[in-house]
Amino acid sequence: MEKITSAALKKRPLIISGPCSAETEEQVLQTAIQLKKTGLVDVLRAGIWKPRTRPGSFEGIGSIGLPWLQKAREITGLPVAIEVATSRQVEEALSHQIDILWIGARTTVNPFSVQEIADAVKGVNIPVLIKNPIHPDLELWTGALERILKAGIKHVGLIHRGFSSYGNTLYRNAPMWHLAIEMRRRNPDTMMINDPSHICGRRDILPDIAQTAVDLGFDGLMIESHITPDAAWSDAKQQVTPGRLEEMLHQIVWRRENGTNGEFHATLQKLREQIDQLDDELMQILAARMQIADKIGQYKKENNITILQTKRWNDILERALEKSEQLKLSKEFLIKYFDSVHIESIYHQNKIMNDS
Ligand code: PEP
Ligand code: MN
Repeated sequence: MEKITSAALKKRPLIISGPCSAETEEQVLQTAIQLKKTGLVDVLRAGIWKPRTRPGSFEGIGSIGLPWLQKAREITGLPVAIEVATSRQVEEALSHQIDILWIGARTTVNPFSVQEIADAVKGVNIPVLIKNPIHPDLELWTGALERILKAGIKHVGLIHRGFSSYGNTLYRNAPMWHLAIEMRRRNPDTMMINDPSHICGRRDILPDIAQTAVDLGFDGLMIESHITPDAAWSDAKQQVTPGRLEEMLHQIVWRRENGTNGEFHATLQKLREQIDQLDDELMQILAARMQIADKIGQYKKENNITILQTKRWNDILERALEKSEQLKLSKEFLIKYFDSVHIESIYHQNKIMNDS
């Protein structure tokens, strides 16, 4: 079949969808046919080799799934995309006329692997999409982009799939939008696709993330879909039926493509990230301040002195109010703020005094 990808990749928004993993021929073909029927999907995706964090879970159907994708392509006319992590996988993909390759988050972290893929695609006319590395490191993402560009690949795209963070959060992978925005700023001519599926890890919040990506002016979305999502062999919780995908895509408010909207949201998002950062720092400073209050509490306890030292408190307030004008903070605000800090400080010292 004729190479159809270069033109297909120019469409905006570019919608890539398909199962997390190819499982059976029937599942691949049915998903592809239903996705094609929506009229909204531009590229069919499916994982053939699945890099799993721990062994024992489904690690992909392997090479026997490649002909299923060829068949899906023949039936639907949709270009097909798979993830590759080794040169052997690249060779197998190429020998089965796979149209687009993507590098997964667990591979982008490893320059040896990325270079191996870059060497394997050298001189080949195939688009390569690069997912962000698992952890929030723009240099590794940039390094992977540079390696693929150096291999002479003309159609390179980036996929923002969120970043791993420790502990339980709403997201499977924190979006950290500011990093995707910064990557976009550094590479304004490179296509940036958002993958809400791996950010969310659950299907109910996919629309919010997809909408934010659209608001930020991303070039497209990669969303996992499956004919029977709950029965999927991998990432069951985050996959949606092609029907649900269609519904979701219709509900998204697509922004004008003149760039102003994307830029507006990108700027807003960046400013908000800065506020969040400062709020975090303020809280750290407040926590450090309370630890000192604890020490003072301990000292007062040992010396049998009262917590409330009115003179000291007036001095603190006076010192702060003197700075009000220079800092452009109103006196009312400073009084309220220091009152709250004082109450919290007394509470801390009280606890120390009364703990035996
Ligand atoms: C995937 O797309 O199925 C996948 C494994 O994604 P990621 O590399 O983003 O985890
Ligand atoms: Mn997946």
